[in-house]
Amino acid sequence: MLTTLASLLFLPALPPEPMPPCPPSIDRCASLRLWIAPHDDDAFDDHAFVATQLEHANLHHQPAGLAFAIVETRTLTPAERAIVSRADRDALGHANWRRGVIDVYLVSSLANVDEPGEIRGVHWRSRADRKRRFIIVSRISPPHVLAHELGHYFGLPHSDAPASLMNTSANALPERAFLPDEITRITRRARALFSSGLVADPRQGPP
Ligand SMILES: [Zn+2]
Repeated sequence: MLTTLASLLFLPALPPEPMPPCPPSIDRCASLRLWIAPHDDDAFDDHAFVATQLEHANLHHQPAGLAFAIVETRTLTPAERAIVSRADRDALGHANWRRGVIDVYLVSSLANVDEPGEIRGVHWRSRADRKRRFIIVSRISPPHVLAHELGHYFGLPHSDAPASLMNTSANALPERAFLPDEITRITRRARALFSSGLVADPRQGPP
């Protein structure tokens, strides 16, 4: 009976425990706001999924002196769990945007808006105001997707180098990381974003 009920209702999607803070030794800690769309798959553990994505993001950005901490978690509506169009993407993040935090949206499906099919993640600019940027990650994502999208957030384009985490083509190696020139670019962009206040460090107080 309980199982039947749970499968009919959307389960509460808030993580049961807080995520780890940035390591004290890191140069810059970026504030993330996490927005979680509800889902009806009681076998899918949002907390474990987000913890793994965050762990990989921290691991890959560490050479740039950068780490990430979730400063706030909010729940989306059931209608926001499937993101189909460009307008859906805009609607998800445009109005919520604010200085100091990087918004990350966790959804159940994210359509490719250029051709049929689904994608795993995207770094998106609101078409009404391109300075409002945010990240959407689908629950189908392997562990490195948030790290890759944050690479875009900190200024990186895609790469043809097989060993680059920014390579999304068929010649990409299974084990990839940011290359030295990519680390340099992330470091430079992080310095600019933090000094302008567009990204805030939670260790300096609330953003
Ligand atoms: Zn990409």
